[in-house]
Amino acid sequence: MAILRTLKGDIPTEKLGFILPHEHLFVDLRGPLAPGHGEGEPEVVGQLVKPYLDAIQAKGVTAFVDCAPLGVGRNIRAMRHVASLTPIHIVVPTGVYKEGFIPTNWLDISAEALAEHWISEITDGIEGTDSKAGFIKTALVDDGPKAIEARNLRAAAIASQATGAIIGSHTIGGRAAREEMDILEAAGQNLNRFIWIHTQTEPDTSIHIEAAKRGAWVEFDAIGANPELDGKMLDYTVNMLDVGYGAQVLLSHDAGWYEVGSPGGVPQPQGYRGYTALMDTFLPALRERGATDADIHLLTVTNPARAFGI
Ligand SMILES: [Zn+2]
Repeated sequence: MAILRTLKGDIPTEKLGFILPHEHLFVDLRGPLAPGHGEGEPEVVGQLVKPYLDAIQAKGVTAFVDCAPLGVGRNIRAMRHVASLTPIHIVVPTGVYKEGFIPTNWLDISAEALAEHWISEITDGIEGTDSKAGFIKTALVDDGPKAIEARNLRAAAIASQATGAIIGSHTIGGRAAREEMDILEAAGQNLNRFIWIHTQTEPDTSIHIEAAKRGAWVEFDAIGANPELDGKMLDYTVNMLDVGYGAQVLLSHDAGWYEVGSPGGVPQPQGYRGYTALMDTFLPALRERGATDADIHLLTVTNPARAFGI
């Protein structure tokens, strides 16, 4: 029986409904060397994000995957406080962000040593807490994978194979995705334990299908960011359903968040982006394009549970 590994413990996936597979509550994009990197008062963070969690709880969301690893400010104290304010089950990653965002003490260590640390975050807990990581997040720069990122991918493969946790990697475009999948497969990774995060950055839909044929999950995760892109992601999703790979598609907003370094944590200048466009506009539009209740259930309940289930 698969479980979702959340901040408050393991939850059988069969007890969950709607899951958002790629969102953010707390981010620091200023880099790990910025003064006060990753710092935020849990109470202040909680106050900012709670109304947005309440809004999706009212729309039936049962679990929420936060995708910020070390390098972009993962703050376990703030996240645990937020988890105490909502019945929504929150998942956080182990892993690390892309080149330029890797903590200096992780630059010169082996894939094996890095994997050992990541495994401990998945099996024992994060930074002395009893909250465990529920998946492994990695990232590539746009012209990656760079050598250090390939090292991270090999570490991720070791940690995934030791724990069953899935790898999700921020990957811009099909060329990078192909190289990344090659590295993971060479490290023995079955690509059904890999999510191509930001698949919508590749306009050639044949590469979405190619990734799915290799076993990977494809994730369209900018829903609600802008109407033109929503239209494209709608086309991409319909295409995947039409060609029979709907069971490997994930949908999310990549929205939020408390932004470290901004006044009150409110992202500047755009403001906080909430997590309801998928339910409010995208899924209704998908139905108009012929998606059935079963398709919607597959995309929003079954698929994220299978992807993140351990
Ligand atoms: Zn993200």
